Amino acid sequence: MSNEEKETRWMCHICDYSSNVGEGIACSECYKITCRQHLTTTMDLNPESGLYEFRQVCVACQLKDQI
Ligand SMILES: [Zn+2]
Ligand SMILES: [Zn+2]
Repeated sequence: MSNEEKETRWMCHICDYSSNVGEGIACSECYKITCRQHLTTTMDLNPESGLYEFRQVCVACQLKDQI
């Protein structure tokens, strides 16, 4: 019905929560859009730069790392 709504709407790939408020955040691992509830900010050492960097990782990728 309304095309305007579609432009800004994003959807979390974990819980299918969709919103047109603000922007979805892309996971640093899989680059899929994720809502805040399913994203965790982690600090990882980048072996190339030797610096810690903040990454936002979705729960699916977190589980993958733990196995
Ligand atoms: Zn979600
Ligand atoms: Zn992910």
